[in-house]
Amino acid sequence: MRKNASILAALVSAVFVTSISTSCAQEKPGYKDTAILPGQKWHVHDPDRPVPPLVTPGETFSHNAPPPSDAIVLFDGKDLSKWRSDKGAAGWKVENGYMEVVKDSGSIRTRDEFGDFQLHLEFATPVKVEGNSQGRGNSGIYLCGRYEVQILDSYNNPTYTDGQLGAMYGQFPPLATAPKKPGEWQTYDIIFEVARWDENRKLVKPASVTVILNGIVLHNKKEFIGGSTHRELPVYRPHPPRGPITLQDHGNPTRFRNIWLRPLGEYDKP
Ligand code: MG
Repeated sequence: MRKNASILAALVSAVFVTSISTSCAQEKPGYKDTAILPGQKWHVHDPDRPVPPLVTPGETFSHNAPPPSDAIVLFDGKDLSKWRSDKGAAGWKVENGYMEVVKDSGSIRTRDEFGDFQLHLEFATPVKVEGNSQGRGNSGIYLCGRYEVQILDSYNNPTYTDGQLGAMYGQFPPLATAPKKPGEWQTYDIIFEVARWDENRKLVKPASVTVILNGIVLHNKKEFIGGSTHRELPVYRPHPPRGPITLQDHGNPTRFRNIWLRPLGEYDKP
């Protein structure tokens, strides 16, 4: 009888532990019903992908960095004349030297298009913390209009790591988790090389990116697997050698300021 009681206790304990671990697993944001990313062991948006090490950024890095003499200033805090949306003029709010996403006004993109470049951009996720996971402070920078470097409030906000702040969305988590607090200005310094195809529309050079967030390298000339997608495998589709910078309207009032870009030339071609 005593033996049966101890077996029963062990069973109850096992069921309890299993239910706890199952409920924890269910609480982890992400997907297991998506495809495996090529060359990796992870599903797209895999909830089990490890969280990159937490790094606290220094107080400032390139905050308020003045544009160099050859930079193209895309936003100086005054107006959205360099930007447009699918509906025409960019409908985001401009005040106090920043622009802010206006929900449902649509993503905005530069009127000009660029190939390889160095980009400086500053952003702040909303000081009022609302939502969680992908619903908190979500925006993003689409390089060449299609390769997303994620913006998210990743300050104490678990999500699938290929979708956290600084991720090459749906492809690679950043090398570090290095957010500032909601409402604080953060810096992105990004070097991008566009994808190239040959005359037979064969990909000869994938797009690649170096990303520095708040002074911390998140990606080091990392190649995109393809254009950014949600819950789908990224694929390359031939596109022109230049494209816009697109800022995402994901419904959260993320702010941007001090955006400038330097097109990159080639060695020995002054
Ligand atoms: Mg986004």
